[in-house]
Amino acid sequence: MTITTALKDSGDLKKNWSDVQLKLKEAYGMDVYKSWIQNVEAKEIQHSSLTLVVKTRFVRDWIVSHYADKILDFFQKLDNSVTRIQFEIHESFYSEKNNQTNIVDFATGSQVLESKDTGYAANRLDHRLTFSNFVVGESNQLVFSAAKRVTETLGHYNPLFIYGSVGLGKTHILNAIGNEIKKTDKKIIYLSAERFMYQFVKSIKNKDTQKFKDAFRNADVLILDDVQFISGKEVTQEEFFYTFNSLIENQSQVIISCDRSPNDLDRIQDRIKSRLSGGLVIDIQPPDIALRLQILKNRCKAEETYFGKEVLINDDILSFIANEFKSSIRDMLGVLNRIIASSRIQNKIPTLQDARLILKDLLNNMQSVITIEDIQKIVVNYYNLSMADFLSSRRSRHIARPRQIAMYLSKKLTTKSLPDIGRKFTGRDHTTVIHAIKKVEELMSADKKFEYEVQDISNKILKSN
Ligand code: ADP
Ligand code: MG
Repeated sequence: MTITTALKDSGDLKKNWSDVQLKLKEAYGMDVYKSWIQNVEAKEIQHSSLTLVVKTRFVRDWIVSHYADKILDFFQKLDNSVTRIQFEIHESFYSEKNNQTNIVDFATGSQVLESKDTGYAANRLDHRLTFSNFVVGESNQLVFSAAKRVTETLGHYNPLFIYGSVGLGKTHILNAIGNEIKKTDKKIIYLSAERFMYQFVKSIKNKDTQKFKDAFRNADVLILDDVQFISGKEVTQEEFFYTFNSLIENQSQVIISCDRSPNDLDRIQDRIKSRLSGGLVIDIQPPDIALRLQILKNRCKAEETYFGKEVLINDDILSFIANEFKSSIRDMLGVLNRIIASSRIQNKIPTLQDARLILKDLLNNMQSVITIEDIQKIVVNYYNLSMADFLSSRRSRHIARPRQIAMYLSKKLTTKSLPDIGRKFTGRDHTTVIHAIKKVEELMSADKKFEYEVQDISNKILKSN
């Protein structure tokens, strides 16, 4: 890369980052922006991973648990080469130069060597991911028992190979294992396969591959997350295999996660595949509705403990979320976080409708989009009108008012523009729509009964959908 392209790239990064900051400000409001987002800097993008720099560990943890999904989301819209975010903590801005990255120093000889960059946190086991807050259901029960078993008797299944698609709890269960074993004096190395490769390549560069190998050879437990990243790179595969074999021969426990089964790994050598399958291979399935609900409930409780304040998310909302987000627990929890955050900022208990609005942009990407026609039908039914009258040019109040309500709800519950909405009401002008919205808002704030009525219709629309 030439100097000019490097500069250009870093300019793009800064610009993209400030765009993302702006969007976060819009999404979460000024308070959140000032407290958490404003002082975060974007440092670099490497290996599809965006590095953000924050001042303290606390800020990092907070961002990770509350905004990381959204940050990644927004960022990917501008630069889809980025698939992950990692954080660097620079306690003091001025010591930045001395404070290189958080790469684990394998020479420290500390008991626990941890490294992780698969998700958002860097370099240590996430102490929040434990067995006790891993909710067990049918889909993950076998994995849970196997994981527990391994912590009780190291080497019982060796290697323990856990696979499943993204967002189903692999990283969680791996951390839970690590955190459990950490209570003993065993020496654990926890890192992502990607980091493994990165470390290895770096050690070749620094001509200290021996140190690298020794660090691994001395481990009692190696936990390797996202091993699919190993595939393809010949030298690293070689090294991985070597390390892997010597660990197993030493009776060290190896625990691996992957997004697919060993057999489905492509571009990985057969002998490695068979070695990987040599212990227990077990998969995590997508959660059923009961498990999804329980995970949501537990998360609300955890937030309560964390904040010392009740989280008032009603069951309607929880089951709404659980029904809409089936394939990834991560996405589902991200959504819950958004609703909790927004209710905190607005200091109100969200209604189902609020939840729906908060998630408007997400839901519009899914099949269940509310259409103006849906809204019209429900309003017409609600007031016992005929669709012909409703769409006619008649202006008598008992028809005009429901029509206005329908326009108002079309604006609230869909992403259609004012002219689009007007068109669906037999070619009315957008100013008519504006007038209708204003009118309904006025009436709602003046008349509780009317407000309740609109709310009631709105809930019917949301539920019907
Ligand atoms: P993966 O590594 O498979 O992509 P993660 O382990 O990162 O998925 O899980 C995504 C999110 O879902 C994390 O916040 C994790 O804590 C949570 N999670 C997954 N499974 C469970 C579970 N059974 N109980 C509680 N939380 C879970
Ligand atoms: Mg993971």
